[in-house]
Amino acid sequence: MRAKLELPSMEIPDLQDIPEQVQGMPRRDFLRLCGIVAAATGVALNPFAARLARALETNPAKPKVVWLEGLDCAGCTVSFGGLLDPPTVGILLDRISLRYHETLMFGTGKVAEKARMDAIAEGGHVLVVEGSVPTADDRFCTVGGVPFKKMLLESAEKAAAIVAVGACASFGGITRATPARGRGVAEILGRPVVNLSTCPVHPEHLVGTLLHILGQGTLPELDAHGRPKAFFGVTVHDHCPRRPAFDKNLFLMDWNDPAQRDYCLMSKGCKGPWAWSDCAVRYWNHGASMCTACGAGCQACSEPGFYEDHSPLFFPHDPVSHAGGRGGHHD
Ligand code: SF4
Repeated sequence: MRAKLELPSMEIPDLQDIPEQVQGMPRRDFLRLCGIVAAATGVALNPFAARLARALETNPAKPKVVWLEGLDCAGCTVSFGGLLDPPTVGILLDRISLRYHETLMFGTGKVAEKARMDAIAEGGHVLVVEGSVPTADDRFCTVGGVPFKKMLLESAEKAAAIVAVGACASFGGITRATPARGRGVAEILGRPVVNLSTCPVHPEHLVGTLLHILGQGTLPELDAHGRPKAFFGVTVHDHCPRRPAFDKNLFLMDWNDPAQRDYCLMSKGCKGPWAWSDCAVRYWNHGASMCTACGAGCQACSEPGFYEDHSPLFFPHDPVSHAGGRGGHHD
């Protein structure tokens, strides 16, 4: 049984009906949000949606969230912001107290750093980390003159839960192979971390995980790499729109042949069979598309071996040796 975290509790009374609007959000959008959370939580949608609607309308508790950025490109922040319409992020931001976020906060300099120090001194916060931690030399990443590794260690000390967003924060990502030798948060802290490891983080993975932690007071069920099983329990290959072509041995050999437009991309280096993520179920950008649907082979960005073990990305690879690398394993 997963341990209860020390967070402000969200009292969740029973409610028979879900109103037409929940904090300004249309009922249909609210139910979609609840569907994301229910997937992460593993609970039935209907009672959870009713309870959450009631709790959001009545409960004054606002858990603290501190969001750090290490060796990153801020792509996960941009991805998270991509959910602003419809305002699913809005409902989340209304329910939390976002004390520190370098990119989003108005405060700068000493004012900003004081906000972080005040939040972590109180403890009980959810720590979200974007970007990796340099291990070759602290000077590869400092904020306000403070090495990022020191910021992470002191911010994690009294945190109730830690969520690593994106490939870099989860496993080091692209920065693993740089001179900075970036490493993931769990590797540095040596304590349980929720890894939302796609590059960038899928905004629904983050919203679902945060609302699960805040609403349930526990971490979601995780796989061997610290990823929520609800989001990372299938491979891209399992539900890929090109899977019918794969099953018929139709592999794309010529990018310029319109007849091969829907063929499987394994011949062009697709790593979908080794990539554990629900991209092909959930899609990206409000369901607009995902990598293999729009003609790019999956890069397995969700896996611990990304990017080093999977490059060069568009070269056909040996499935046997690839499966033996650091990426592609699942419990
Ligand atoms: Fe699998 Fe990739 Fe082919 Fe899709 S394109 S069926 S993920 S190998």
